[in-house]
Amino acid sequence: MEKKFYCFNCNKDVEPICKLQTNSYTVHKQKVKVKENVFTCPFCNNELLDENLNNSLYEIYNAYLQLYDLSFSKLKEIRESYNLSQELFAKSLGWSKRTIVRYENADSLPQNQYLQIYKKIKNNKNEFVNILKSNRKSLGDELYFKIFNLVNAELDLKTINVFLYVLKNNFLTKTQIMKNLFSIDFLSYKKYFKPITCFKYAHGTYGPIFDNKDAILNLLVKQNYLEMVNDEEDNILFKPTNEPDLFLFNKQEIEIMDNVLSKLKGKSSKKLTDWSHKFKGWIETNDGELINYSYSKDFDLQKNW
Ligand SMILES: [Zn+2]
Repeated sequence: MEKKFYCFNCNKDVEPICKLQTNSYTVHKQKVKVKENVFTCPFCNNELLDENLNNSLYEIYNAYLQLYDLSFSKLKEIRESYNLSQELFAKSLGWSKRTIVRYENADSLPQNQYLQIYKKIKNNKNEFVNILKSNRKSLGDELYFKIFNLVNAELDLKTINVFLYVLKNNFLTKTQIMKNLFSIDFLSYKKYFKPITCFKYAHGTYGPIFDNKDAILNLLVKQNYLEMVNDEEDNILFKPTNEPDLFLFNKQEIEIMDNVLSKLKGKSSKKLTDWSHKFKGWIETNDGELINYSYSKDFDLQKNW
């Protein structure tokens, strides 16, 4: 510790002895523990005050936020996960922009009711969309739909969880993800006349793809559902950051996903692409054209390998 402190006792600048100490504080009636540096004079043992008090207040507040599994930086991350500016995020929740700015800058400590909302909407788009919907009247339709599009609210929780289910212990490239999701939805449509995700598929060069595939994968990364990792050959793989929520699926849906997973597992992007090029729905459509779900009758997981 280079920094010198003034000791009133000894009436001179001294190089203090620094000791890490755990102190308890009460914030909003809750006890928090903070590790702090305590400085003492090496000559008279007097405790010396660190003039950097703001910093220690920040640590105390952050320790309080940790009781809610939050932190000042997480408050900002949560907003950014919804792809919204401070102003639009505030409006969605019915808060003032000033409130958000003060919280994100650590200028003030959020009240309990605000913290509860942060906690609720962290990694839970459905909760966020519910609050957004409840504020629709005061927002007006134009602003409401603008925000709705920005948070990509049509990507429902079930679809997100199909990604988490497919990628669990099974990190895949973009192309492999496309084949898995396409197979899951066409097999589900073939058996039960409805897909599991909210996607429609179109004819892409490497086989059927869902709309806006890059934007959707980017969004899932941005919203902390997926992260990108590299394999030994430097391919980009997608890896889930959460466990799938199995309560969103019924038994038949799980069975379909498991069928597809076991059939497609370990197959290269190239092999999957060649296979998908033998699907009638792909053969009979042009580049960019929608592949109607009625082609699901021609979908066969066991054939054309
Ligand atoms: Zn002293």
